[in-house]
Amino acid sequence: MLHCDDDELSIIALGEPASASDEAHLQSCPRCQSRLDQLSAVVTSARGITEADRPTDPPPAVWEAITSELGMDSLSNVTSLAAAPSRRRRAAPWLLAGAAAVAGVLVGVVVTAGVTSGTGSADLLASASLGPIDDSGFSGSAEVEQTTAGPILHVDVPGLPDVDDGYYEVWMATPDATTMVAIGTMNPGSEATFPLPAGMAVDAFPVVDVSVEHFDGDAGHSAISVVRGQLQT
Ligand SMILES: [Zn+2]
Repeated sequence: MLHCDDDELSIIALGEPASASDEAHLQSCPRCQSRLDQLSAVVTSARGITEADRPTDPPPAVWEAITSELGMDSLSNVTSLAAAPSRRRRAAPWLLAGAAAVAGVLVGVVVTAGVTSGTGSADLLASASLGPIDDSGFSGSAEVEQTTAGPILHVDVPGLPDVDDGYYEVWMATPDATTMVAIGTMNPGSEATFPLPAGMAVDAFPVVDVSVEHFDGDAGHSAISVVRGQLQT
């Protein structure tokens, strides 16, 4: 049996008269009659949509929160899409849906930003002031931060000079400094960030030390430190 074409059924559902052959077929075919009923229901629903069913702008306070969270002066590109009242009445439904999608994405961005940076202090596990050792004249700071990838150590010692034939090494040590773990090398002039070894009990190594090392093949601590401090939680 040759069934009615879906395009034809759609036109019939929209109110156009059926052709004689379609009319005859519909009388005898439950499958096509059912299809026409479905399409008619879609048309009825679509015609029942009112202005109140359309996506609307979030309240101004939400936009203000978004712009302030993102550190932006304005969201001119977005607000011109979503908030221009003179255009909104005439805007095609897809445009309104697009604006709503953009708003949804931005809300997602803000929520994500709040989790990752806005509540940054909640991720801080410990911090330390690093004081000068042997009158090195330098001081700095260290922080251990929890991340989804594990704890990371930030070390900042402003003003460190280049080392002649050597480099700076960051260590974490037990409180009595009998056991030291080499964390990584640190270049002067910038804050250093190190992922801490997986499985290392950070609490057991609260002392952060920065030493001067030389290219001498000796992996141990040189005993020449420039700054040191103890992490406090
Ligand atoms: Zn049929």
